[in-house]
Amino acid sequence: MKISFVNLKRQYEAHKKELDGTWKKTLGSSVFILGKEVKQFEKEFAAFCGAKYCVGVASGTDALLLSLRALGVGAGDEVITVPHSFVSTAMSISLCGATPVFVDTDPKTYTIDVSRIESKITPRTKAIIPVHLYGEPAQMTAIQRIAQKHNLKILEDACQAHGARYRGASTGALGDIAAFSFHPSKNLGAFGDAGAVVTDDKALAEKIRALRTYGGKERDRYATVGINSRLDALQAAILRVKLRHLAAWNEKRRALAKRYRSLLFDTPLVLPIEQPDIVPVFCLFVVRAPQREKLRAYLEKQGIPTLVHYPVPIHLQPAYRILGHSIGSFPEAERAAREVLSLPIFPEMTSAEQTHICRHIKKFYAL
Ligand SMILES: *Cc1c(COP(=O)(O)O)cnc(C)c1O
Repeated sequence: MKISFVNLKRQYEAHKKELDGTWKKTLGSSVFILGKEVKQFEKEFAAFCGAKYCVGVASGTDALLLSLRALGVGAGDEVITVPHSFVSTAMSISLCGATPVFVDTDPKTYTIDVSRIESKITPRTKAIIPVHLYGEPAQMTAIQRIAQKHNLKILEDACQAHGARYRGASTGALGDIAAFSFHPSKNLGAFGDAGAVVTDDKALAEKIRALRTYGGKERDRYATVGINSRLDALQAAILRVKLRHLAAWNEKRRALAKRYRSLLFDTPLVLPIEQPDIVPVFCLFVVRAPQREKLRAYLEKQGIPTLVHYPVPIHLQPAYRILGHSIGSFPEAERAAREVLSLPIFPEMTSAEQTHICRHIKKFYAL
């Protein structure tokens, strides 16, 4: 049996008619940049998140960067985030001229350790970026309390958590502003790069709209320095079709996660914890695995691909040598980098495939 880590072909085949139809229709419309499809998608995705505004942009990275710019973060400012995430979380901070200040990861949830945030706040701190890593919302009540007390803004990195819920509210509605990625590998994926910013704040939404089109134009006058970062109509049309299936796909991911738990509970793997008040969306199914590299190599030989999200913590990346961190600076992020393993999970995965994966994991650990 040859298994894919994510099988986008199956998803396309299952919804081919709808997807081909909307693609053709959009090609025929000759509107490729912004336009009606983008507007409609923005309306529908804001509603999905339970937020007032959505602004489509070119990627999740741009969604983070433009959100920070809209919040007024710039040179000399500090933004708190985690070293155990995709690099772009920190890079968005650097790209707007600010400095990322890392807070170690909670070893149980893999999200920001809220007990360590306050000690990192300085007069320069402007915002916190909690990352809802692997599809699991961060501890937002504590983060909201800290942000309020110190007058900080919250930018959710929701790039892996479309539709995840925290105490009844969706990601995208848990902070001041939120960034989503629609990279093909995410829970809601376009046919290329795409992203969006979601917020309840009208002024912030308008700032993002200006920033994504060269700073916004009025009678050939540009008020601020912006970039070109627009969601294009073809991607929006595809995302509108896929958004209709997102809730069902997330439900399937949760069912697969539940089955992983029941098949793997008696192995040495440390399974994701279940938190009350959180409905996760399992963008990834991540375990801690003893002898991880050996297990990976063994599974690879059996036609079972696995990945590591992420093997090098951000503070140890060459790009961040300038910050002066070293090995031992963030022990939990570093331990996660050594131990975590992502098993295949996607809504179209069959139970035969899942059984096959679990059987080989047990075989590896001689169970
Ligand atoms: C994917 C991802 C991003 C970046 O999104 P792109 O669309 O690839 O730019 C940022 N943060 C996290 C946590 C991600 O998973």
